[in-house]
Amino acid sequence: MTRYASILETIGDTPLVRLARLAPPDVNLHVKVEAFNPMGSVKDRMALAVIEAAEHSGALRRGQTVIEATSGNTGIGLAMVCASKGYPLVVTMAESFSLERRRLLRFLGARVVLTPAAEKGSGMLAKAIELAEKHGYFLCRQFENEANAEVHSRTTAQEILDDFAGEPIHAWVSGFGTGGTLKGVSRVLKAADPCTRIVVAEPDNAPLLGSGEAQPAAASHPRFRPHLMQGWSPDFISPLTQQALAAGMVDEIVPVAGEEALRLARELARKEGIFVGISAGATLAAALQVARRAPPGSHIVCMLPDTGERYQSTPLFEGIEDEMNEEELALSRSTPGFRFDLPAPRPAAVAAPRAIQPADTAWDVEAERCLEKCLAQAPVVMISLAWCEFCWAARKLLDRLGVDYLSVDLDSPDYQAGDMGVRLRPVLARRCGAPTIPQIFIGGKPVGGCSELFAAWQDGSLGHCLAECGVVFDSGAEIDTELLLPAWLHPRSTTA
Ligand code: PMP
Repeated sequence: MTRYASILETIGDTPLVRLARLAPPDVNLHVKVEAFNPMGSVKDRMALAVIEAAEHSGALRRGQTVIEATSGNTGIGLAMVCASKGYPLVVTMAESFSLERRRLLRFLGARVVLTPAAEKGSGMLAKAIELAEKHGYFLCRQFENEANAEVHSRTTAQEILDDFAGEPIHAWVSGFGTGGTLKGVSRVLKAADPCTRIVVAEPDNAPLLGSGEAQPAAASHPRFRPHLMQGWSPDFISPLTQQALAAGMVDEIVPVAGEEALRLARELARKEGIFVGISAGATLAAALQVARRAPPGSHIVCMLPDTGERYQSTPLFEGIEDEMNEEELALSRSTPGFRFDLPAPRPAAVAAPRAIQPADTAWDVEAERCLEKCLAQAPVVMISLAWCEFCWAARKLLDRLGVDYLSVDLDSPDYQAGDMGVRLRPVLARRCGAPTIPQIFIGGKPVGGCSELFAAWQDGSLGHCLAECGVVFDSGAEIDTELLLPAWLHPRSTTA
């Protein structure tokens, strides 16, 4: 199928990719790249399955709020599914998970309720239960919901079997979080071929399974310790994981060190061009151990649960610089142009900005009148471009000051007729003595662009102008104008 009725139809059917460089050459180590799901993780499958199962059973009513405790990927998948189907979503999440995850959830329209890191996974789950009971929300219960395992049996496992078309699979390697992947995939692979080894990886410092110690009722597992593999081993062995163990599905448990997980996630990116998260690096660490012992020619499948995009504020990206390093600076200096240590070249062939071309400076009465009309409409007028970051920065200052202003966006459809958006620019340049955008006017007088506006706020003159024109604003506002500028303009010292 090449056309889809909704984004939800694009979930699953992820590619199985043979590792060409990281695996021993005589073994076929295949990775299942779950980052291909629409929101970039294996949890998209579960999110859709849990919501649809609840719709079918009647547990979820039209328009009812959905809630779940999640380290992020489940929430992000649920946010997509809920957005597409029209359910409000609340996510509870420990404060220790990466910032990108919170921001992504909120971008998708979900509300995020943080819980203290010290209360671990159990804390966020307890909070979700409290909120669900108090407000009548539908709680997904991903750690015990059979729909979570069922979708992996029906899709993930079936895709793997289809991809091998009857060829034997020596081993399937996965970590566990909810255990949905583990329970759902293992039972189908085992039924298809009892010789397929089910290998489960877990953090070496949190051997919940490896220790053989049972999960105590309503408490953290005694062997749990905080670890680097977000999405793996919560502080308890979930019901779905316990069921997979009890059914005798697990043949081997492999402990993985955090550093090894980070190293292999980076290696996957640099040596195979496969961009994935920390738990994927960790699963590969275990799969490589299996591969080293496997008979030549065997097929091994390794789950890669999510994309690396989500880990930019975590140790995975440590040492990845924002600024040029010495080698990059030397490369920059190896040719004369476009450097930070020399002024930019201005070759004659580069046309001057459109606003000051001679042909444009001819008197354009209509454009003059148009500008006058705009300036007369409000005491504070900003002539701007919708896409310009400096215009956004100037807007932020005016918004924080609570100033009511008129924004005249020259690139908006309103100024397309008669090419007025373009014709206004030379008129504006003449009036302001500068060809740049934005230009801010107070009481019809030009204040300047973004920098001049910021300087006028700092030296108090902006306040005077606004007061003189009777414009209401928050005179006591404390604003660091530098922070309103685009991030790439923030002083270098803050990123060094
Ligand atoms: N890795 C990541 C990054 C995850 O978000 C999850 C889900 N929590 C897993 C692995 C484990 O998957 P499952 O919940 O199906 O055991």
